[in-house]
This record gives sequence, C-alpha cells and structure tokens, in this order.
Amino acid sequence: MRIVVLAGGIGGARFLRGLKQAAPDADITVIGNTGDDIHLFGLKVCPDLDTVMYTLGGGINEEQGWGRADETFHLKEELAAYGVGPEWFGLGDRDFATHIVRTQMITAGFPLSAVTEALCDRWKPGVRLLPMTDDRVETHVAVELDGERKAVHFQEYWVRLRASVPAEAVVPVGAEQSKPAPGVLEALAEADLILFPPSNPVVSIGTILAVPGIREAIADAGVPVVGLSPIVGDAPVRGMADKVLAAVGVESTAAAVAEHYGSGLLDGWLVDTVDADAVTRVRAAGILCRAVPLMMSGLDATTQMAREALAMAEEVREA
Ligand code: GDP
Ligand code: CA
Repeated sequence: MRIVVLAGGIGGARFLRGLKQAAPDADITVIGNTGDDIHLFGLKVCPDLDTVMYTLGGGINEEQGWGRADETFHLKEELAAYGVGPEWFGLGDRDFATHIVRTQMITAGFPLSAVTEALCDRWKPGVRLLPMTDDRVETHVAVELDGERKAVHFQEYWVRLRASVPAEAVVPVGAEQSKPAPGVLEALAEADLILFPPSNPVVSIGTILAVPGIREAIADAGVPVVGLSPIVGDAPVRGMADKVLAAVGVESTAAAVAEHYGSGLLDGWLVDTVDADAVTRVRAAGILCRAVPLMMSGLDATTQMAREALAMAEEVREA
C-alpha cells in the first residue's frame, strides 16, 4: 500500500510514528511543509522537515516535540556574547550541525530535495521525506505592531511574538511561482491513499496546498483522502492554530476545518470524541465523518488513530 501524508512539524511527525506502527508494510511518502523555513546565522533552517526527520529517526527532544534530544546551547551563547542574534530562536549545538550540512550542500548547488534525502541517510526515518518544493517559499504574517501594519516572517510571529497579536493575513510568499519538488506529483499520482495528519490547516497543510499543482493532484488522484482534526474541543491541542485560522476566516472548530478543506479535497474526516456533535455538520458538507479519540498521548493512542484513518479510507473506497 502506498500512502502519501502531507505534514507540518510536531502534529505531522507524531502522527507518522503511529502510522508506521499501524501500517508496517506500507510505503509511506511524506510531503513536508517548507514555508516555515528561515535563514539564521547564514544557515538554512527547515524546522518542519527536521521535526519529521528527528522524530521518526529517534533524535527528537520528546518533551518539547522539536529540536534534538540531549541538546546543549554553547554555540548560541557564544554568538550572543558577540551580540549576534536572534536570541528568540532556539538552535542547539547538535541541531546546528544539520543546518551546516544542509547549507553547505545547497551552496554547492544541490536542491533541497537532494539535501533532505542525504540528511535522511543518517536518520533513516522509515518514510520517504520530500520537501513540498525545492523553491523558496516563506510564510509571512501581516500584523499590526506599534500602530503600524507590517509583515513578519512566520517564525517571528510564532516564536518571537508567540502569536500574541492577531494575524490579519497569512501569505505563503513565493508559493505561486514555486513548483512541486521532484517526486511529489508522482507520489500523489501513484498513491493508494492520501492522509492529512492533525497538522496546522493554514501554515502547514495550507502552505503545501498553495504550491501550484499539489491541490489539483490530490483532488484528481481518485483515491481516498482522509484527515484528522488538529482542533479538539474548539481549540488547538498545541500551539496557536486558532490565530492563523482566524486570519483566513475559519472558526476554530473541527467541523469548520473540514469545511475549509471541503469535499472537493477531503473524503473523510476524523474528529475527537469530545467533538461528536460536529459529525452531522461535516457529513452535511459531503465528507464522511466519525468521532474517535484523537489525543496523541503515546504511541498506542497514536497508532489507534492511524488505524481509524486507514479504516475510514476503506470505508470511502467501498462507498
Ligand atoms: P508544527 O509545524 O510543529 O506546528 O506542527 P503541525 O502543523 O504538524 O501540527 C500542529 C497541530 O498539531 C496543532 O494545530 C495542534 O493542535 C495539533 N496537535 C498536536 N498534538 C495533537 C494531538 O495530540 N491530537 C490532535 N488531534 N492534534 C494535535
Ligand atoms: Ca511548522
């Protein structure tokens, strides 16, 4: 079975761990969000690709959900001693090595997809990890700061400002001109099943869908497309997805997110048991829906979520 998963960082990565358990023989391709990528200290940092790679490769800081386990921060402290920032972005010594290798390879002319493959040679995530595009796409957020409207990099909005001001617009800068990375459209065309894990619908999955050709390839794939809600009990489980959903005019509920994707894209949608009353509304939108536990509290719970998604795909296929 060939499964394609569109993934952001933590939500996508944790779900993938369960999916690998639930479908050990499946051939899994992950299309990763690169809209969060940022250049820091002259290095190219790809937070979502790295979160997937470290989580599946056994190098993640488990409690935090991002960054490396057993991390130290000497390099960052030394840079700060020179007055060189930003200090608000957590880059540890071990993590720095990844960004140095990546930047060296990019400078030598390799596309991000080839670099990601090379990094995965070390981590062996057990999935094929593809960036959504080799082109530069950067998510920017329009905010009002000190009485002035300005656009800030997504990381500045999320990490430095902690989404403390309303997001007025979210723009994946460069997406319109970007092309899917090699292998992305092929993987979608050959997929038996496409999954949207509980990743951020706007700045993770929304950004991937903004790369011309990807949304169409999913809609035209003719295979079940099943998603899992990142919104539980009308709030994101982690992070500040409600802030970016508001920017695109979508209320922070499991049903509204399903409607936002729409029946043109989604065939099935899983909501948490606390959102059981959303099922009727989602079904009315032409999307198969069921309420099951959606908290990724551990590998067993996450594996069970993946099983539910696979079962729903079967149901879509039979319908
Ligand atoms: P990011 O790039 O690190 O922000 O990660 P993603 O975009 O892949 O996932 C972020 C989303 O995961 C957030 O909107 C959370 O609400 C969601 N999320 C995190 N943990 C859980 C969980 O245990 N269950 C569900 N249903 N969603 C979760
Ligand atoms: Ca992210």
